[in-house]
Amino acid sequence: MHAERDESIERRNFLKGSGVAIAAAASIVPLSVRAVAPDPIPVDGDTVPGPKMRQRSPLAPIRASMDRVIFLESCLRPFRPQGPRIELEKVGTKSIIHNYGHGGSGWSLSWGSGRQATRLAKQAGARQIAVIGAGAIGLTTAVVAQRAGFKVRIYTKDMIPNVRSARATGVWSPSARIVALEHATPAFRKLWEEMARYSYAQYNALLGVPGNPVEWIDTYKMSDTPFAKGASLYTHAPYPNEPEYPHLEEEHTPDLMSAMQELTKEQHPFPVDYVRRMNTMMFNIPAHAQGLLQDFLARGGEVVIREFESPKEFQELPEKTIIHSTGYAAKALLGDNSMVPVRGQTAKMIPQPEVDYAISYDSQNFYTVPRRDGMIVQEWSPGDYGNEKEVAYIESTRASVDKLAKMMAAMSGKS
Ligand SMILES: Cc1cc2nc3c(=O)[nH]c(=O)nc-3n(C[C@H](O)[C@H](O)[C@H](O)COP(=O)(O)OP(=O)(O)OC[C@H]3O[C@@H](n4cnc5c(N)ncnc54)[C@H](O)[C@@H]3O)c2cc1C
Repeated sequence: MHAERDESIERRNFLKGSGVAIAAAASIVPLSVRAVAPDPIPVDGDTVPGPKMRQRSPLAPIRASMDRVIFLESCLRPFRPQGPRIELEKVGTKSIIHNYGHGGSGWSLSWGSGRQATRLAKQAGARQIAVIGAGAIGLTTAVVAQRAGFKVRIYTKDMIPNVRSARATGVWSPSARIVALEHATPAFRKLWEEMARYSYAQYNALLGVPGNPVEWIDTYKMSDTPFAKGASLYTHAPYPNEPEYPHLEEEHTPDLMSAMQELTKEQHPFPVDYVRRMNTMMFNIPAHAQGLLQDFLARGGEVVIREFESPKEFQELPEKTIIHSTGYAAKALLGDNSMVPVRGQTAKMIPQPEVDYAISYDSQNFYTVPRRDGMIVQEWSPGDYGNEKEVAYIESTRASVDKLAKMMAAMSGKS
């Protein structure tokens, strides 16, 4: 486990250690995939048959070394075992619509969740609304509400990039820690499916928009042991103290899931025994968040920087209808103790526009995503669930970057 340290010490150590580049990674030559099977190969009936996947050109190597790490951040997923709170509450003269607690799915479900909150705002009757919070949920909800004809003012303590949402990995993951299996009622499942389908469509409508807020990439999912039946990119196997999660995508939106192509060792360049390839929708978070903000302002939206110490202060706002989207901060602000923090850590290496694939390697605890603003390296650990320490550990990142560098070096030898 990680030694617990003060974040500033971590940062100092990080900067000190950043000169220790992993030399092997720097001199990697381009890799080639030797052959690609024309059709997905079913395995135990759990590889989804699908259309032919395109032939790949050589994979650009990832330049993994600590001196290329430019950001290292920790973040908390706002998880509620009973699912996100999206409901209307009448308090005093105000209609408060809560919209928080989206676990590891906040970006993915943001459009659909915003639409649901907007429906509730319509029920409340007012045409002017306040949105509290400007993370993935608040910002997207504000735009959705404007599109529905509302005049919207955002009140928020912080703006992008200084919000937790800015530290997310940035992939389509609508079922990641969104509800515990025991709370996945038919009503929740129906709402989830609606939110997922609406969000999926909205994100795909952003393809090709300047700045590339959304892109489709290949993910190579790797394993040291044969893949379990039904294993997908999206469904995280719970750690011992976590609840069991439902397989929402497999059960409700299988048509939105990518086919998974099982690759033989001759069909990929990785020094790994089991590899699958699949399509993944990726969000370039800075470009997408900027796009949302610009859209909001262009439609006449206003932003007021304000921190609320108590929900009683909501009564001071001129708007009668308020959508409350403060994410994990709702735990302290409202005293919502159903909220469970799930710690996460992302590092960013210098962007490599030539890299267009992700690597998801569960048993080695790392995940890389080739965002335009940087090569994201994410780790996870059994201690993340219920962990409120928003501290980034340089040792974890170093371990992942080291593994990645060794993989790249071995790949250059293999090609
Ligand atoms: C490591 C990691 C990786 C992730 N990767 C993904 C991913 O790939 N895909 C995905 O879909 N999801 C992902 N998530 C989950 C996603 O990041 C969250 O679900 C999402 O960020 C929640 O957004 P939010 O708007 O509810 O909260 P926040 O981003 O925390 O926004 C809250 C807003 O409220 C404001 N606020 C807070 N308190 C107050 C107050 N008292 N007064 C006024 N304003 C206040 C804040 O300033 C902020 O603007 C990831 C999470 C982590 C931790």
